[in-house]
Amino acid sequence: MIDYKLHIPGPVNIAPETYQSMSTPVMGHRSQDFVALYQSCQPNLQKLFQTEDPVFLSTSSAWGAMEGSVRNLTNKKVLCCMCGAFSDKWLDVSRRCGKSAEGLQVEWGKNIDPDDLRKQLSSGEFDVVTLVHNETACGMMNPLQEIMQVLNEFPDVISVVDTVSSFSAVPIPKDEWGIDVILTGSQKALAMPPGLALLTVSERAFRRAEEVEGRGYYFDFLEFRKNHEKGMTPSTPVIPLIHALKHTLEKIFEEGVEARHTRHAELNQMVHAWVAEKGFELLPEKQFASKSLTCVKNNLEIDVAGFVNALREEKKLSIDGGYGKIKGKTFRISNMGDETAETIAHLLAQMDEVLARFV
Ligand SMILES: *Cc1c(COP(=O)(O)O)cnc(C)c1O
Repeated sequence: MIDYKLHIPGPVNIAPETYQSMSTPVMGHRSQDFVALYQSCQPNLQKLFQTEDPVFLSTSSAWGAMEGSVRNLTNKKVLCCMCGAFSDKWLDVSRRCGKSAEGLQVEWGKNIDPDDLRKQLSSGEFDVVTLVHNETACGMMNPLQEIMQVLNEFPDVISVVDTVSSFSAVPIPKDEWGIDVILTGSQKALAMPPGLALLTVSERAFRRAEEVEGRGYYFDFLEFRKNHEKGMTPSTPVIPLIHALKHTLEKIFEEGVEARHTRHAELNQMVHAWVAEKGFELLPEKQFASKSLTCVKNNLEIDVAGFVNALREEKKLSIDGGYGKIKGKTFRISNMGDETAETIAHLLAQMDEVLARFV
């Protein structure tokens, strides 16, 4: 039994009511009851994704939808925008899927520059671009609107945007910005247990998928669409998580989407203020700092692992001690999901107490 609260950037803390919503009995996935559940989620999903396109539910973690996007959409070559652990990995995954792929790489913590992207795409070699909106590993949020403006200059290039740690935390108007595919996962910004990925696919992207061979079965966009039209998924889905999704969507619209965005921005500012007050710095430039988590640079050279352990052992609060190659050189604090001014203030006060022994 874990006796501490998660403030790591995913999985995040899950509200008791969300767990309770999952204890609804399972039904047959070809039954009218399932169709009703599936279809009851669609209007809210389309509203939240700000799209007229269908929103599919994939029983997988986000990587399933990420890999699936590459397999469904690439005929020529993928350009993977690389600016952190998840976006870097997408190049490797694309190649493992047998696709020809190249990276547009920047240092961790730096943003993807729209002009660099334009230069790369001008070669005409690429027909898909992958982008991680919010690089969870470094707390950096890419300038998505500016990047989409460039992508819209290239109508033959399909855009695939990972919003795993930003979806529902900040506005991402899919149709207005012309994004082809947006995907996200359940266990981060949506604050549900892991195991469900959500993705929405544009008409243009479906037309591409029709021309691509080797889409496989489990993540085939055309299979998803065929089943979606009947209010179903291609294979047996993780039904308890779809109950949790229905509950989560209702809660999001009860709070109001704009209010949710404002809350995330305010909580994030509280963490930023703490960082500045303690003499720490952010890893990314302030302008590109994520609004759903904070990646703190360990410029004070504290024992990060010791700090994180003490906070968990003594205060029962779990933050993250840095991801991959920046472990120990950074630490991360999530303000995703259901956090409030009270819970973040509590976290920061407890961090204060523990930190005093480490500086
Ligand atoms: C966590 C994360 C992923 C991977 O998600 P899984 O659910 O583990 O597959 C991908 N992209 C980003 C930005 C993430 O934060």
